[in-house]
Amino acid sequence: MNTDLKKLITEALSDQSSLFGDELLTPLKVDIPVEKVAESAPVFNFFNKEKTKLPESEFNENWTSASSLEQLDKMINSCKKCALGEARNKFVFGVGNPKADILVIGEGPGADEDAKGEPFVGRAGKLLDDILDAIDFSRKKDVYIANIVKCRPPNNRNPLPAEVKECFPYLMKQIEIIQPKMILCLGLVAANNLLENKMSLTKMRGQFFDWNNIKVMVTYHPAALLRNPNWKRGCWEDVKLFRKYYDENVAGKV
Ligand code: SF4
Repeated sequence: MNTDLKKLITEALSDQSSLFGDELLTPLKVDIPVEKVAESAPVFNFFNKEKTKLPESEFNENWTSASSLEQLDKMINSCKKCALGEARNKFVFGVGNPKADILVIGEGPGADEDAKGEPFVGRAGKLLDDILDAIDFSRKKDVYIANIVKCRPPNNRNPLPAEVKECFPYLMKQIEIIQPKMILCLGLVAANNLLENKMSLTKMRGQFFDWNNIKVMVTYHPAALLRNPNWKRGCWEDVKLFRKYYDENVAGKV
C-alpha cells in the first residue's frame, strides 16, 4: 500500500475514533484489566531499546509534595515510569499561566511538541491559539495547557491505558496546584480519561460536566479540525458556550 493512501486511511480511522471512541466497536469490546494491557502492550516493541533505570536522585519520588508547577516539573521531568519516557526527545510538562482559571487538556505530545518540549505547537497549536483568540483568551495569560500524558506516544497513537495510569496522577497534581475553575478537554482521549467515561465525543459536546467542582466542556482536538475543517463550526459553538459560562460565572468572581 502506498504511503499516502496508508496515511489517509490512518487519519480517517483516527477521526472516526475521535468522534465515536469505542462505540463503533462496542459489540466486539472486551474489557481487559489494566495489568493485562501492561503485560501485553505492543508499545514496548516500538522502541527496541534497552530499558535504562534512572539513578534515584534524578526522579524525586516525593513529587506529591510539590507546591508549585515549577517545582513539580523539576521533580518529575526525568520520569520513565512507562515506555513512553524511553522514547521521548523532550518531556512536555505544560505551558501557560499557573494561576489561570482555565485549564486546556489535550491527549499527549505529537512530533512538534516532543521536539520543543511544549504542548500544542505546530499547526494544531496555531489553530488552538486561534480558537482561544476567537473567544478572547490568550495562551500565555488566560489559560494553562497540559496533556493526559507528558511524553509522545509513537506514531501519534493514543496513549495506552497502562501509560495513562502512570501519568495521570501528574495531571491531577497540576490541577491541584492550578485550581482551575473550568476545563476544556480537546478530543476523546482527554475527555474519556478525565471524566472516566466511555461516551463518544458527539454525545459529550455541547454540555458541561461537573468534575470535582470544576465545569468541564469537551470539544474537538485541533489536529482533527485540521483534517476535517467542516467540524470547525461545531467547535466554534462549543467554545462560544464555554466563554459564555466563563463570563457569567467565573470572570471577576473570587
Ligand atoms: S508518559 Fe508520563 S508516566 Fe510515562 S514516562 Fe512520560 S512522564 Fe512518565
